[in-house]
Amino acid sequence: MVFARSLDRPRVRAFYDEVMSLKEELGEKLVVLAHHYQRPEIVEAGDFRGDSFELSALAANQEKAEFIIFCGVHFMAESARIVARDGQRVFHPNLNSGCPMADMATGAQMKRALTELKEVLPEADSLVPVAYMNTNAAVKALCGDGGGLVCTSSNANKAFRWAFEQGRRILFVPDEHLGRNTGNAMGIPADEMLLYDPAKPLGGHDEDALRDARILLWKGYCHVHTWYRPEHIAEARVDYPGCRIVVHPECDENVVGLSDAVGSTSYIVRYVQKAAPGDTIVIGTEVNLTSRLAYEYPEINVVPLSRSLCPNMFRISMEKLRDTIHALPNMNEIILEEDVISGARLAMDRMLALA
Ligand code: SF4
Repeated sequence: MVFARSLDRPRVRAFYDEVMSLKEELGEKLVVLAHHYQRPEIVEAGDFRGDSFELSALAANQEKAEFIIFCGVHFMAESARIVARDGQRVFHPNLNSGCPMADMATGAQMKRALTELKEVLPEADSLVPVAYMNTNAAVKALCGDGGGLVCTSSNANKAFRWAFEQGRRILFVPDEHLGRNTGNAMGIPADEMLLYDPAKPLGGHDEDALRDARILLWKGYCHVHTWYRPEHIAEARVDYPGCRIVVHPECDENVVGLSDAVGSTSYIVRYVQKAAPGDTIVIGTEVNLTSRLAYEYPEINVVPLSRSLCPNMFRISMEKLRDTIHALPNMNEIILEEDVISGARLAMDRMLALA
């Protein structure tokens, strides 16, 4: 068993021991999910680790689990609630741990965008909304109700292909970089991808430009991944001759273009697992994942492209996890309206059907 070094700290260790004993009491009634970007001790305490979609799907398959605690940011716990089985209740150790990128697209903004775009692009099949998993439930629901779907960073390409079978254009929300990198990989010309600014009427474009566009990229970004710059890549090539550089598709297209590989968090984990002893792998994603991979695969030289930490993921602490388990089921439950669940479920089911 891999033991996280942070558990050497007495205070963390005491909370960890309490969490493990509470988990033992609850047995199969409780499942704790830990996203790849969580602190090492949280990953250690989790029953499963993975990316947001993998974890939600895993939780829903735990037939005996009544309580699911999602250690990640808020939209991830919402996603687990959306796909939960009847009778399963989902909790989040810190309801203040949100994702700034997900919050760059509110339900109200999305509704307004879809309404105004429909007026300009009146043909029924002209616009298909695609929501990244990193969106709030209300945005996912509007996508589902609007004939669109959800995607993750691992299946964005497939989701875009599906969407282009349904209509001529995609509105991709909320990460302009994942959208652009996906469009680039599909060979969509740069001038057919427009940045859609939700703060401006028609996203800041005239009607003709919108009609000509194939992909409308919501103006949103992840500050953790846009931290990486081409200079970081150049420095890594000098510092680690012969290294391979793998980055997340939420990075800027210039960073992606200079890297050796691009993929989701799960892809990055597999990339390291497949490396040969002595290889140097430079990783452009959240530093908690990079540090854990370095710890778990000492035979590979795993180094961060630059240290970039997600402070929102970091808001989940062992103490908060302990408090949430202790108070079950009376604290930090994820509650969503039924119509939001059904619309969002539709969008997520369309994604699942892609496989
Ligand atoms: Fe949001 Fe970026 Fe943090 Fe992920 S890493 S939770 S996308 S801010």
